[in-house]
Amino acid sequence: MTQNSDSQKRKLKYAGRAILITMIIVPFIPFMLAIGVSFHYFTTALENNTRASLERIVSDHGDMVDTFLMERKSDLLLIAAMINFDAAMNNGYLHDILAHLKARSPAFIDLGLFDEKGLHLSYSGDYALKGKQYQDEFWFNEVMEKGAYISDIFLGYRKIPHFVIAVRRESEGRRWVLRATIDTLFFDQLVSTVHIGKSGEAYILNHQGIAQTGRRLEGVPIMAKDPDFEKFPGVSNVQNKKRASTPTHHAKDQTVFQNPLVAKTFKQSGRGGNAYVYAVTSVNDGAWLLVVRQEKQDAFAAFYAALYLSVAITLVGGAVIVGLAFYVTQRILHWIETLTHEKESLGNQLIRASQLAEIGEMAAGFAHEINNPLQIIKGEHSLMEMLLGEMTKSEESKIALISFPKDEWHTFVSEIGESLDQVRLQINRCSEITSAVLKFGRQTEIKHQALFPSQLIPEILKMIRNKAAVNGVEISCRVADDIPAFMGDAAQFQQVMLNLFNNALDAVVSRHGVSGGALTITSNCHNEKEIEIQISDNGVGIRPDHIDKIFSPFFTTKAVGKGSGLGLSVCYGIIESFGGTMGVNSKPGEGTTFTISLPAV
Ligand code: ADP
Repeated sequence: MTQNSDSQKRKLKYAGRAILITMIIVPFIPFMLAIGVSFHYFTTALENNTRASLERIVSDHGDMVDTFLMERKSDLLLIAAMINFDAAMNNGYLHDILAHLKARSPAFIDLGLFDEKGLHLSYSGDYALKGKQYQDEFWFNEVMEKGAYISDIFLGYRKIPHFVIAVRRESEGRRWVLRATIDTLFFDQLVSTVHIGKSGEAYILNHQGIAQTGRRLEGVPIMAKDPDFEKFPGVSNVQNKKRASTPTHHAKDQTVFQNPLVAKTFKQSGRGGNAYVYAVTSVNDGAWLLVVRQEKQDAFAAFYAALYLSVAITLVGGAVIVGLAFYVTQRILHWIETLTHEKESLGNQLIRASQLAEIGEMAAGFAHEINNPLQIIKGEHSLMEMLLGEMTKSEESKIALISFPKDEWHTFVSEIGESLDQVRLQINRCSEITSAVLKFGRQTEIKHQALFPSQLIPEILKMIRNKAAVNGVEISCRVADDIPAFMGDAAQFQQVMLNLFNNALDAVVSRHGVSGGALTITSNCHNEKEIEIQISDNGVGIRPDHIDKIFSPFFTTKAVGKGSGLGLSVCYGIIESFGGTMGVNSKPGEGTTFTISLPAV
């Protein structure tokens, strides 16, 4: 069964692979879809949340900074409205006012009064600024023009970074300016007290990207240019462009922020190459930008946790699916193998059953064949008995035997010799017949080997030659000697041929009686690859409505006791196990041809 079991193994391997792939792909697709869709929605929601939270923080913080600036400006406006210019010329008076302002907010550090020409008339604070001229200072021009002004950070006469809030007053035909300096450190802390995650920070830039407060994490000092500013969306280089709201002392720097953003977020990489999420909003009437930023890794920590979790779930889930698929496939293959073995053993039992049925059917024929030689043996035996009886009949037989006429003696001896020859011949015939029956009926182990049609077919034909002769069926066998061999079991091939020959003889006898029948066996080889064996008869043929059924087990049109209906189904199974095919072509009333195709070796 090697060829058969090899192809069986190959089929099982393909089936196993197909089952495995299906078992992996079928659950994997919905699994990946479920993971993908939930990951997408979950992470989108997380990202939106993170952005929304940054936007809220920058917006709240911006409101706080604006409120602070607004309150300080209102404080100054109120003071300017309340005080008298002449009184304010007195330093002591200014000291008192500064003390009141400091009580309201420790952010105030000094206070000064200026006439409309920019001359510093009186001053309360730690620097010797009284009498200094401010006519050309940018903040002085701005306040004279606008009435109230909050400056960017600058160095001024004191050469220390600071910013001022100034208000203009017109009273008694005079225009004068009251100016307060805000504590840079205080403001810096006010702005930078934003704590978001590990890497969150807040700072203020003016429209040229100059830091108005320090940057906690990357060490950008106050008044330095923010190196990341150029990359902000909405920032562009504009030649000689000055914004009305932008201080003029940085006019040499041509980079301006054109579209002040309102609580907008964007992603961008920082100096160290780390990616950041930014949220930016305008403060100080659009003059400054409040920037809140956080490292992307930190801001989207929950996002990355979800990502790693999804990857882990995918890997574990995938491994479970693959593992289960392997396990189930192995179980199914084992199951198929067991069923195949069971089927094989059932097939063998069927073959055996059909063999026995065939023997039963052929028994009558064999009995008839053995009977003829036995009758001859019996006749010869009687003749020898008679001759011997005659020789020993009389008393003087011994003498007679001696004095037997020579001619008669010779005749007796030769007749006995002929009878003995006949007896030996007939006994040999009987033993040939019985050994053929025994050989056919013996259940031998199935052994696939190269079988040559030119040797086997004439051998098998010998078994039916007598039956054919008795029924007047002419057999012609056209099997060329050079037909290549095929792989199969000899006993099984004999069973197939005998079954087909016997069916043909039955069909021929049904149509022609005991004369006029013909059985033809031909064999050809196509392309040295395929051997074709055809068994044709001129019997009754097969009805078209029976053609589809003849290979089914237990289909028979023969009388009870004559046919079992197993023959053709077993033949079909045997030829299939040789790797071949079997087909039939029949015309009722004309004859039938069975064609067997087998791979040549
Ligand atoms: P069984 O010979 O026991 O009936 P088979 O399986 O060998 O079982 O054959 C099934 C049926 O096929 C036969 O009963 C017969 O009707 C039909 N058949 C087989 N061979 C021939 C043939 N050469 N000519 C006509 N009919 C045939």
